[in-house]
Amino acid sequence: MNDASRKGHGPVEVLVVGAGPTGLTLGCDLARRGVRIRVVERALVPFAGSRGKALQPRTLEIFDDLGVIERVLAEGGEYPSMRIHAGALAFPWDLVKRDRVTAAVPYPNLWMLEQARTEAILRARLEELGGEVETGTELVALEQDDGGVTATLTGGAAEEAVRARYLVGADGGRSRVRKLCGIPFAGDHGERAGAIVGDVHVEGLDRRFWHAWPLAKDGPIALCPLPQTGLFQLFAQTRRSNFADTPTTETVDAFVRQSIGAGSPIIRDATWLSVYRYNVRLAHRYRSGNVLLAGDAAHVHPPTGGQGLNAGVQDAYNLGWKLAAVLAGAPHSLLDTYEEERRAVAADILALATLTYRAKWRLRGEDTKQLRTRYRDSSIAWEARADPGRVRAGDRAPDARGLDAAGRVRRVFEAFRGPHATLLAFGSEAARTATTACHDFGTKVVAVTKSIEPGALVDEGGAVQRTYDTDDGSLVLVRPDGYVGFAGDVRDTARLADYLARTHARRGSMVLHDNDRSARRAPRRSV
Ligand SMILES: Cc1cc2nc3c(=O)[nH]c(=O)nc-3n(C[C@H](O)[C@H](O)[C@H](O)COP(=O)(O)OP(=O)(O)OC[C@H]3O[C@@H](n4cnc5c(N)ncnc54)[C@H](O)[C@@H]3O)c2cc1C
Repeated sequence: MNDASRKGHGPVEVLVVGAGPTGLTLGCDLARRGVRIRVVERALVPFAGSRGKALQPRTLEIFDDLGVIERVLAEGGEYPSMRIHAGALAFPWDLVKRDRVTAAVPYPNLWMLEQARTEAILRARLEELGGEVETGTELVALEQDDGGVTATLTGGAAEEAVRARYLVGADGGRSRVRKLCGIPFAGDHGERAGAIVGDVHVEGLDRRFWHAWPLAKDGPIALCPLPQTGLFQLFAQTRRSNFADTPTTETVDAFVRQSIGAGSPIIRDATWLSVYRYNVRLAHRYRSGNVLLAGDAAHVHPPTGGQGLNAGVQDAYNLGWKLAAVLAGAPHSLLDTYEEERRAVAADILALATLTYRAKWRLRGEDTKQLRTRYRDSSIAWEARADPGRVRAGDRAPDARGLDAAGRVRRVFEAFRGPHATLLAFGSEAARTATTACHDFGTKVVAVTKSIEPGALVDEGGAVQRTYDTDDGSLVLVRPDGYVGFAGDVRDTARLADYLARTHARRGSMVLHDNDRSARRAPRRSV
């Protein structure tokens, strides 16, 4: 256990177990809200492989909000085109559908970044926000009562009992937290071998392409160049259920050559190798009292389609603001909406990943980008309009561009950035009326107006209104995690106030304008 990291800890509000992408995202989100956290990680050194290298567009939007997007873009790269090899033939193909940037979707495409680098960026962000990962610290036991959780942590010879209001198990597919809570993890984990995966150097293979041998004898093989490295990620499916658990460069090279046959590339110097075994499972519950599960601890599925890490990041982002709100006084029932919203999404992702695993060469399109994830059936999606447009309560709030009073382009996402909820009030009358309803909840009110008004987002050509498919007088409340929570119009301000009382903690007024950069400084527990 890292002694230095334990110094100065006050009472813990949230103990995050596991510092993979899920735990780190949650740590960052809670730290920027001023929640007192500890993030503990069993491993002494960070995981070093490329594993979840596909970052989906929705995850990039979250990373934008968390303040790490520049680093993610600087260290990663676009997916290259595929080159399909069949015997002596090689021809181009594209597994990934590519789209253009639009005002509504600033990050339309997959971005490749090795998981180890994503984690390093999130760890650095957590430290910037005043948190840290306590490495070499393992959760071994936990007990619950009405007031919280008592967790037993070990590190080296030391053992420590930690009291926390909530505990989040972000401790991966074999989650100790899940097991200690007795939460069933049913699914398909047959005997079939899955794939040999790893980061390898390859002799004489063109790094401009993602190479695939769909007809390889033992199952399809792919080698994808990892950006800004000399490495390829190997993904070699195999029907051999007895492939060694600890593959070596030599055994993998021999396997690839035997499976591809003539013209096979030569594998050299693996920096990471592993065997993936087919496993599709979903936790029966995401919550047990004051303990919640997130990421692989709650759902595991095949890596094809690039969904796992992304789903974990989004679990964390869904949970972070809710935990902070409840800790600051919002109704406890808000935490139930985490499972309500995210478990249904995980079930869909499981089905999709299974499909992409079986139909390996199925085009990755809109269904894998996670931009269509929505919570329309959620108990905290309140649609008050009789005839809503395309964007409804429960939907992802799209980006859109307007101007500030000085004529500079302003994105709606800039207004969302930070830990607060944002009310888009279409028209100055709507903004004036709704400001009172938002007064106690720290909600940022952005007036979207046709003419220039101080502090307003000027929507001269009506682009913002068109994107939100709404009218003058509309009120669109965007949750801290970028989904429309409430949608109505000026006549619905009492319902808006009711919605805020059920989903947010009451606090002093924080009415900010779209271009007020101070919103990026997280006021304590502003949700
Ligand atoms: C070959 C491969 C390719 C993949 N490709 C993609 C992809 O392209 N895109 C994608 O989205 N996903 C992909 N995935 C899936 C992705 O890697 C996982 O979904 C992701 O790592 C899950 O993150 P997590 O933080 O939930 O769990 P993990 O990454 O498993 O992290 C859990 C952490 O908890 C720690 N821990 C465990 N038990 C304890 C304990 N008792 N106490 C303290 N700490 C503990 C572990 O040491 C670990 O660091 C891929 C996976 C594989 C194997």
